[in-house]
Amino acid sequence: MKTIINKINDRQLNSDIIKKAGNILREGGLVAFPTETVYGLGADALNENAAKKIYAAKGRPSDNPLIVHIADMEALEKIVRDIPDAARTVAERYWPGPLTMIFNKSSVVPYGTTGGLDTVAVRMPSHKVACALIEAGGGYIAAPSANTSGRPSPTKAEHVKEDMEGKIEMILDGGTVEIGLESTILDISVTPPMILRPGAVTKEMLEELLGEVTVDNALLDEEGGDPPKAPGMKYRHYAPKAKLCVVEGDGEAVVKEINRIADENIQKGNRVGIIGTQESIGAYLNGVVKCIGTRQDETTIANHLYAVLREFDEEDVDCILSEAFSGDGIGNAVMNRLLKAAGHHIIQV
Ligand code: AMP
Ligand code: MG
Repeated sequence: MKTIINKINDRQLNSDIIKKAGNILREGGLVAFPTETVYGLGADALNENAAKKIYAAKGRPSDNPLIVHIADMEALEKIVRDIPDAARTVAERYWPGPLTMIFNKSSVVPYGTTGGLDTVAVRMPSHKVACALIEAGGGYIAAPSANTSGRPSPTKAEHVKEDMEGKIEMILDGGTVEIGLESTILDISVTPPMILRPGAVTKEMLEELLGEVTVDNALLDEEGGDPPKAPGMKYRHYAPKAKLCVVEGDGEAVVKEINRIADENIQKGNRVGIIGTQESIGAYLNGVVKCIGTRQDETTIANHLYAVLREFDEEDVDCILSEAFSGDGIGNAVMNRLLKAAGHHIIQV
């Protein structure tokens, strides 16, 4: 299949391109598009055969459900059995935006979209291109991240091209995304609501609105405990090709330990990658060193994480050593993804 790649500017939408992309979706095809979180791989969510093509293109296990993207609240009524009051409160504050909620699904949503579950994950994105495409494509787009299953999620169109060229009809290239990590997933069908995946909308932000909010225990433990409630979180996602190890502790001690492990590996003839920050980058002496952002603003770290992991795949390093991040605010989501990428391999100093 020839994949058409179209550049698109969210400040000046080209309605011809949006219309063509929408028609591909209406006819059961696949279009990758930018959202504020990561690039999504879209298909008509209410067309089971179309949704199945997503699994084939990504090599995604069929029990890993898709998120349905909508453009307005009316669209929600049709695909869910009930809308809890708490969901309306959250939607008013954080939709459109980087937050997904889990509802009981109505019969119009095929099981092919929900991985066989009776619940459906729904998000209303804020990215202008995503909104226009949802409307042009019939109102309901099932879209997971537009990467091959197991690779880091795409944060620019080049990443999508690497993984999806020849497998999908179209890529809408809207440049680099704003956030760089997938949406927060909140199960609002349970009381108290439970976070199944951390993201840019944090536990603190949700608690301010809802009172108590819990976090799926599986996110806090090492792998091998209870299975996570978001089926996708059980897979070793976001994995770079090289072995990744996270070093946590006091700033100077971390740099010292990373330098020590790096030297040890280099002496053995290994190629070593290092993930540092603007604050520490000058202190790394050997290895392939990449700056992921500044600790002064962890949104910069979220923004670069997946791109840096992909760059290390190109560099052909044998192992990657990364500093740990704060665990507060968006740093919590960064650490969740980083630890998953590392298979929970962490050294405390
Ligand atoms: P992705 O869009 O690739 O970031 O993946 C979507 C994530 O949403 C996966 O981790 C899924 O397991 C999760 N998800 C989608 N639908 C549901 C659902 N009905 N219940 C729980 N988790 C879900
Ligand atoms: Mg994904």
